[in-house]
Amino acid sequence: MEEFDTIILGAGAAGLFCAGSLIAADPGHRILVLDHARAPGEKIRISGGGRCNFTNLATNRERFLSQNPRFCASALSGFAPGDFVALVDSARIAWHEKTLGQLFCDGSARQIIDMLLHRMRSAVLRLETSVTGIARTDTGFVVTTGRGMAAGRQVVVATGGRSIPKMGATGLGYEIAAQFGLRLVTPRAGLVPLTFAEQDLNLCKPLSGLSLEAEVRHGSGRSAATFRDGLLFTHRGLSGPAILQISSYWQPGESIQVDLLPDCNLAAELRAARGQGGRVAVATALARWLPNRLAEAITAELGLTEARLADQPNRQLDILARRVNEWQLRPVGSEGWRTAEVTLGGVDTRDLDARSLQARSAPGLYFIGEVVDVTGWLGGYNFQWAWASAHAAARAIAGQ
Ligand code: FAD
Repeated sequence: MEEFDTIILGAGAAGLFCAGSLIAADPGHRILVLDHARAPGEKIRISGGGRCNFTNLATNRERFLSQNPRFCASALSGFAPGDFVALVDSARIAWHEKTLGQLFCDGSARQIIDMLLHRMRSAVLRLETSVTGIARTDTGFVVTTGRGMAAGRQVVVATGGRSIPKMGATGLGYEIAAQFGLRLVTPRAGLVPLTFAEQDLNLCKPLSGLSLEAEVRHGSGRSAATFRDGLLFTHRGLSGPAILQISSYWQPGESIQVDLLPDCNLAAELRAARGQGGRVAVATALARWLPNRLAEAITAELGLTEARLADQPNRQLDILARRVNEWQLRPVGSEGWRTAEVTLGGVDTRDLDARSLQARSAPGLYFIGEVVDVTGWLGGYNFQWAWASAHAAARAIAGQ
């Protein structure tokens, strides 16, 4: 049987980075990386529209969802966005900051995959190899694959979440966690377009392709989440970054609130406009603030197509303003695993050591990346978690 120091399951962002970090810390470390896919880092390849949003300068633990919001802080502070940028710079990969601290490659995401592969080039990478079992031995673990068995002192589970099964996502990591007695926070789709009832679709469908900046809210009080970002009308309802962000907070049966004109008190503006010669049509007045098509669709929905601003009582202007500033929607579902960018939930952080990502009940077994119940916002946070958790595990393993 082949013997290694560490066997890494999954050649995605976290697995590849963990292998490279182990070699950087301990050049003689014998590493086997296993993946059933044909190519490593497939999600990196398609990420950020092909340019990979590889980190976010605003990374802090508040940008992550988890049953234990403090858990990710240790790993994130041990490997910061600047640490990854230093690697990107040393590989001479050109990058730029888009908005909100999001860093993207100028060229192809493939450059990031090549950098990660170069960093771990002394490891054995075995693709198209399915993992069928893992068992404990006196000295570590034996992993059984479709191509035979391999022994390792440590096993790092980096098999990701359930999103996009077409790209190789499976529940293997969750099964291994259960086998070793770790608890699971029920996985669910995150960063995913929401789906809407027929009555909302009647407005959205004809506006398909239209986008604007909006503020989307969920919940209230201390548990409220608010995102101001792009909102896109589609033939399926609403999408765009603001909706993807709020989808990670939304639960079936709940509503969300959309402000199509953040920073504008439309009720006050409409009253003022009415006072200054409001013989214009309501739709024309509204189009001062909103795109024409949207202004027409909203006024039509409220039966105001032919109406003049001058004829509208305060009560009617308030209804119109609320429809724009406080649009209440009750999504009927989400597009699910097929299009979700991430998986919320996963291996319960109560059963992992925050500094090393090692399973408390199974010394030598580590869980990193998206398989863990730590999920970032949209904007490079999920890769930063993959790098940081991989680095923490590698440092712990190499330091033993
Ligand atoms: P993965 O990258 O999913 O890797 C898991 C690996 O395990 C895969 O290679 C898989 O083949 C392998 N595997 C799974 N099951 C088995 C098995 N049974 N046997 C063997 N191998 C197995 N995040 C960002 O921060 N920025 C972005 O720009 C961004 N864009 C995204 C765009 C899309 C379309 C998607 C889907 C996600 C995007 N994400 C982005 C999220 C990011 O890709 C993930 O959070 C990140 O890849 C998680 O890394 P991971 O290594 O934990 O899991």
